[in-house]
Amino acid sequence: MERLLVTGGAGFIGSAFVRRVLGDAAADRVVVLDKLTYAGSLASLDAVRSVGSRLHFVRGDIGDRALVAQLLAEHRPRAIVNFAAESHVDRSIDAPAPFVMTNVVGTASLLEATLEYWRTLSPTDRERFRLLHISTDEVFGSIAAPNRADERSPYAPSSPYAASKAAGDYFVRAFHRTCGLPTLLTYSTNNYGPFQFPEKLVPVVILNALEGRPIPLFGDGQHQRDWLHVEDHSDALRIVLERGQTGDAYCIASGRHHMNRELVALICDEIDRQCAALPHRPTSALVQQVADRPGHDRRYALDASKVRALGWQARIPLEQGIRETVAWYLANRQWVAEISRGFDRAARMGLGLGPQMSQMNADESSSLASN
Ligand code: NAD
Repeated sequence: MERLLVTGGAGFIGSAFVRRVLGDAAADRVVVLDKLTYAGSLASLDAVRSVGSRLHFVRGDIGDRALVAQLLAEHRPRAIVNFAAESHVDRSIDAPAPFVMTNVVGTASLLEATLEYWRTLSPTDRERFRLLHISTDEVFGSIAAPNRADERSPYAPSSPYAASKAAGDYFVRAFHRTCGLPTLLTYSTNNYGPFQFPEKLVPVVILNALEGRPIPLFGDGQHQRDWLHVEDHSDALRIVLERGQTGDAYCIASGRHHMNRELVALICDEIDRQCAALPHRPTSALVQQVADRPGHDRRYALDASKVRALGWQARIPLEQGIRETVAWYLANRQWVAEISRGFDRAARMGLGLGPQMSQMNADESSSLASN
């Protein structure tokens, strides 16, 4: 794999990917570019600090053209893997502007800088180069059972987050079709595992259950998701990077579906098992139904046959993955405390659109003009 530039590599999935490719020496060198928003943490890369100069961290924005151009010229990566994004649906409902700035404008800017770099490469290096962009099943919107979306399914995003990811994806497709940039696009289902910021469902349930706080369950709890362990996702990305067809997209999914209320029950049972001394057991008694998220998609489902044909399959069953994830959060309270500083897990987000979109027009477009 040689040299990689990984954007968003201090986030949940990006850091798992970096730990994986450096841990088993699949990459000689990884340059991580990450803005370190509230969701990013250098501590997520501690496990691979020992690789020394094989890991190079730069704090910065994918939308900073000059910085990206400089990093590309200096490190000359064989591939770029773009994880950088604003990723939380509820936040996108309250304040879409940062989602537009990073997921749309930032992605387009990264593509421009990449195209410029790619055009300077020798014909052989141009042939080998890849830009892998990480997208989500949410771009397809809600999928009625028993159907599954695949790589040719139409986009139907529901949330501002999904809309911003869809827009970013269109730029990736356009840079391939119009400019010949060798891109790869992946859609994955919901990820879970260690180092996930505690605003997402799995860590919220684990931590609230541990602390005896109410566990919010949106609406009737019957929304269905396909939960994919972040390490299975990382494996799939490596395979797509090595064997994927440029210009193609790949759906990555475990193939199993669970209602949110089933997932929450599974986590509570696991907490009860691993923390037998908790005074407030059974922790499932802490579950409280709360108002549903506006526009909440009922079901996400992807057909992963195309990536399986490249030789990938999910290895970690949900029960095992949840057991290990619960154990990880129990053992890593310090990481949770540090990344959560200033974040109130009890505050409800995502109940209505705020005024920030118009704010962006005034503030962000002027800062864009100066970039
Ligand atoms: P995350 O929020 O945990 O991490 C995002 C990382 O990107 C953070 O480290 C953040 O600091 C960084 N970042 C944000 N804006 C940036 C910018 N402008 N420039 C540089 N860095 C920036 O997100 P995640 O869950 O790891 O998701 C990674 C990618 O995978 C995203 O593109 C997301 O849309 C996609 N995805 C996530 C899931 C999931 O279940 N978490 C599922 C499917 C797809």
